[in-house]
Amino acid sequence: MTVRERLYRTEAVILRRQDFGEADRLLTLYTPGLGKTRVLAKGVRKPTSRKAGHVELFTHSRLLVAKGKSLDIVTQAETTNSFLPLRDELGRASCAFYVAELVDRFTEEGEENRRLFDILLNALFWLGDSEDTALVLRFFELRLLDYVGYRPQLSRCVRCAQPVETDAALFNSAEGGVLCLRCGKGERGCRDASPQVLATLCYLQSNDYEQCRRLKIDRRAHFELEGILRRYITYLLERGLKSVDFMDTIRREEAEAVSPGREPAGTASS
Ligand SMILES: [Zn+2]
Repeated sequence: MTVRERLYRTEAVILRRQDFGEADRLLTLYTPGLGKTRVLAKGVRKPTSRKAGHVELFTHSRLLVAKGKSLDIVTQAETTNSFLPLRDELGRASCAFYVAELVDRFTEEGEENRRLFDILLNALFWLGDSEDTALVLRFFELRLLDYVGYRPQLSRCVRCAQPVETDAALFNSAEGGVLCLRCGKGERGCRDASPQVLATLCYLQSNDYEQCRRLKIDRRAHFELEGILRRYITYLLERGLKSVDFMDTIRREEAEAVSPGREPAGTASS
């Protein structure tokens, strides 16, 4: 093999990193053409490393990679977007951890999924930009589920196909969607889904982000939306996600930091 054949270029988002050897890191990347892949970044834990800043978590970078016998090796790295707002605020960072862990857990190495790469990049941008990061997460979860083959059926009962949008219904993770009250009565493993929350889920599933971002979702509805999707995702993955605990802890601490009697930020009309 010539040197040229041993090198390839790729864009990538750094999903995960682990210390490796004395000063190296093993990086889990998500790329447009190779899907998920793992590469070695040599020497990046040394303070003098010029590559280190370009292979931080959640960074969108352009890499030059050399094919290795067991692991490919990063030879050059250049940041395209470091998503700075995600580094400045712990709440936003915890959401980015979650998004990265979701992509990692729902994908196998070497499976190309261009749409998933694009929505991952968008989600990282929106998480740094939006006042309603929970809405970004719900939008992202629904797209990811769709792109990896687990799109939940939300507008019609999964058994009898009756439309349920305007009625109360039940969400059944095992069947991947909603059951009308007639079909779902007495079924185990179902979760109540109010008409308002079902309508919101359907809207998020079938409209683009520019439309969805205008939705005003109150805390109670957010709580319900998160509960339904978290339960479904946990069911599919067969265990919880590490980043969920981190995200919940940060959120609790932020809620406690808001002094009693004061309106939480973002509720004042402008
Ligand atoms: Zn039914």
